[in-house]
Amino acid sequence: VEFEGFSAEENAELNRGGILIGALEEMKAWARSNSLWPMTFGLACCAIEMMGAGASHYDLDRFGIIFRASPRQSDVMIVAGTGTKKKAPLLRRLYDQMPEPKWVVAMGSCATAGGPYVKSYSVVKGVDQVVPVDIYIPGCPPSPPALIYGLNLLQKKIRRDARRSVARA
Ligand code: SF4
Repeated sequence: VEFEGFSAEENAELNRGGILIGALEEMKAWARSNSLWPMTFGLACCAIEMMGAGASHYDLDRFGIIFRASPRQSDVMIVAGTGTKKKAPLLRRLYDQMPEPKWVVAMGSCATAGGPYVKSYSVVKGVDQVVPVDIYIPGCPPSPPALIYGLNLLQKKIRRDARRSVARA
């Protein structure tokens, strides 16, 4: 089949089913981004705001974001609170127990860079030293709307990354 307005190379790709594969990848990313399952996992005071975001007033469920009680059922880790060096190996173990694909949100100044405890001997200066972080949310603590905004950015990132991987393939 000859597709008008496309180069010979693009026509060859289209005839190989590139459009279908591309559409499928984008559809999967759309579905994933609209059914994120964060782990119920709080380390300190920021976790209270995370719980507030999940409760009825802010209602994270309306975005398809539903907390799960097991890392094996989760695809998002929201690090809400202070990451101490003692907890760091456990944080990593929970991350490793999550199936792929998975994403990490660093919520609050403690998780992003050590926060008020940046000079403490016992605190990790940013959880990205332990797990790969996709979204950083500043604040001490960030409000529930700030967390929701960060999660909306993560949804966009998931869809954008899928589009880019299709374009690269
Ligand atoms: Fe607590 Fe502030 Fe650290 Fe959040 S950023 S865990 S509110 S000290």
